[in-house]
Amino acid sequence: DSILLEVRNLHTRFFSREGALAAVDGLSFNVRRGEALGIAGESGCGKSVTAQSILRIVPRHGKIVDGEILLHQDDKIVDLVRLDWKGREIRDIRGRVISMVFQEPMAGFSMAYTIGNQIMEVIQLHQRVNRQEARQRAIEILRRVGMPKPEQAIDAYPFALSGGMRQRAMIAMALACTPSLLIADEPTTAVDVTIQAQVLQLMKELQEEMGMALMVITHDLAVISELCDRVMVMYLGKDVESAPAGELFRNPKHPYTVGLLRSVPRLGEGKTQEIQAIEGSVPGPYARPTGCPFHPRCPEFIPHVCDVIPPPQVEVAPDHRVRCHLYADVQPQQEARMVAQN
Ligand code: SF4
Ligand code: MG
Repeated sequence: DSILLEVRNLHTRFFSREGALAAVDGLSFNVRRGEALGIAGESGCGKSVTAQSILRIVPRHGKIVDGEILLHQDDKIVDLVRLDWKGREIRDIRGRVISMVFQEPMAGFSMAYTIGNQIMEVIQLHQRVNRQEARQRAIEILRRVGMPKPEQAIDAYPFALSGGMRQRAMIAMALACTPSLLIADEPTTAVDVTIQAQVLQLMKELQEEMGMALMVITHDLAVISELCDRVMVMYLGKDVESAPAGELFRNPKHPYTVGLLRSVPRLGEGKTQEIQAIEGSVPGPYARPTGCPFHPRCPEFIPHVCDVIPPPQVEVAPDHRVRCHLYADVQPQQEARMVAQN
């Protein structure tokens, strides 16, 4: 399996009068060519900021302060962190190599232009085609994403489309230049359940057909089990567990992952609101816990260890990594206990 994107020790912070907030806090992971990687976790755990960091669209008061985001291209490796965020290089990569589907389909569109104009603009930005050819391609893509009557829909304004159709139009725009990586941030939260299933099915088909990698960001583990080959679970800006999807669902190790899986409604019980299976809530942004960030909520909490020492990352099975003292060498725990007893 060849690596497409390599994120190493990424730190992204937001600065305000209250202080610095570590939204992404030492994150490392790979995206392989053609795979579907799911990024799971509650809201506020840094999933969206991870995507924003990769695309270099972190909002103004935020900054990547450390780490590397290495994009492996045919002939070279580019560190996206080192690029000028408004320069030509990153703009060329956005759309041509990596593109994104947003949570709220309106966010990706300008209201002043037809969807066709906007898709054609993306095509013409990255490919040497004339307007007529671009229009033809845009119609083809709209047809491919299941837009009814694409020859007419191409001249529609975004606000004239239903939520589901707008979602499809946005996927069409993201696919307009056959990216190597499509990032989808909560791709189905804004649409109803029936459309949700269709959109997921569509993304899966397109991913397989185009051989592109897919990074699906979601709090919904059902979406991940539907779509993804591998999963990374995030908590407070850290990768707490990652594994092949089947392995993670069968054999979750991190107490946070175990809690998340317990909160997924069982098949046949229908969609319920998020069940509060994990005690407590994500701590306020400036109250980052010491040691393991999950320790205030963890049912397996080891006193004087979990609240003091950040857990190391341990590979518990092939390609299955966990950051939790339960799986680490017992040595530091014993030392810490001895310190505590003295
Ligand atoms: Fe729980 Fe400790 Fe593991 Fe953190 S390191 S998840 S607090 S057992
Ligand atoms: Mg988000």
